[in-house]
Amino acid sequence: MPIFANDPHRKSWIEVSKESDFPIQNIPFGVFLTRENDITIGTRIGECAIDLGAMQRLGYFDGIPLTDDMFMQDTLNDFISDGKKTWRLVRNRIAEIFDIVNNSLQNNIEHQKIILFSMDEVEMQMPVLVGDYTDFYSSKEHATNVGKMFRDPENALLPNWLHLPVAYHGRSSSIVPSGIPIHRPMGQLLPKGAEKPVFEPSRLVDFELEMGFITTDANVLGESIPVDKAEDYIFGLVLLNDWSARDIQKWEYVPLGPFLAKNFATSISPWIVTLDALAPFRTKSIEQNPKPLPHLVDSSKNNSIDIQLEVSIKPNKGEPKTICKSNFKHLYWSMAQQLAHHTSNGCKVNSGDLMGSGTISGKTPDSFGSMLELTWRGENSITLADGSARKFIEDYDTIVMKGFCKNEQIRLGFGEVSTQLLPIFKSKIDK
Ligand code: MN
Repeated sequence: MPIFANDPHRKSWIEVSKESDFPIQNIPFGVFLTRENDITIGTRIGECAIDLGAMQRLGYFDGIPLTDDMFMQDTLNDFISDGKKTWRLVRNRIAEIFDIVNNSLQNNIEHQKIILFSMDEVEMQMPVLVGDYTDFYSSKEHATNVGKMFRDPENALLPNWLHLPVAYHGRSSSIVPSGIPIHRPMGQLLPKGAEKPVFEPSRLVDFELEMGFITTDANVLGESIPVDKAEDYIFGLVLLNDWSARDIQKWEYVPLGPFLAKNFATSISPWIVTLDALAPFRTKSIEQNPKPLPHLVDSSKNNSIDIQLEVSIKPNKGEPKTICKSNFKHLYWSMAQQLAHHTSNGCKVNSGDLMGSGTISGKTPDSFGSMLELTWRGENSITLADGSARKFIEDYDTIVMKGFCKNEQIRLGFGEVSTQLLPIFKSKIDK
């Protein structure tokens, strides 16, 4: 099925500024609360939030085989389950209705009052109910940097790293959408020079610049997904901040990997940008050497995407400062390889599962995707706009991650994932 929605010449009757991440060629999917406190599935053009549930009730999706309440739900899981053909039909229809040459909704002011909201009057929610969350570790630069710092500079990459996309199972219960503040975690850590651990607030809270992809139902238990079919099961991508407590991590991670250092919070951007919408920005990922085993050979010419990424820190009451610029295309393992590897033992993947990329660091120091790397485990510090210095993240700092794609014709993107770090949680039970 052709993706008419991507036509770069299409213009919408909804005004979109040149710098917007949400032109009519994007048509992402999300879930929001309306001013009437109704929860609905929606999309966005410019600064306009579009209620897809209302559009469905008013007949704008007639002719597309959808269950009656497809968009009147509080998650996208069922829609995602319907598969790629439905996603394309719906995106194409939305593009058609909001095209400047189409008068159906453009001339119907009564319907517009029901369907259209301003972005500042809606509240974005989690777009999917995440059943399982897996976090990969697919940037060679990041894995090398961390290996140098935590282990052995001579053998920074462990022997398996170049043969499989290393990952761990994360925790879906602590994934929050942009705008929801999180708390500094308590944890066990071993202070410098101490022989015994203490249980204290983490002193080394960090962000990790990542992206995540969201899957549809992919397989039955026992079945694996071939690498060349894997992308058919990827609905779209979000920005992801994999909050990390480096002191807890350092003490706990041997031998089973990250646990409480990572599962206290993970933040994502609320709009899922479809893999279809990202098609014009496909590019080749890094050459793989050694060649992976046959089940992981990704022969696709353009197995990555050129997504420009940046991170800024905004201190409480201060101005934000950009501290890192990176790109999704720096990743060594592709999404198809990650999903093929994940299911290569028959592990089942469901609609709404989230797969994090791992920290996306590039080769240059200004492209490192975590404070751990940017300050080289706190040996250097970063000066913020208000003159204050940071080695790691301080209470009330806000981390903002942005991501967008741009070519000569269009720019589209993810908006942002913005999260404030609050002090440790004070339980009401203590009082
Ligand atoms: Mn991570």
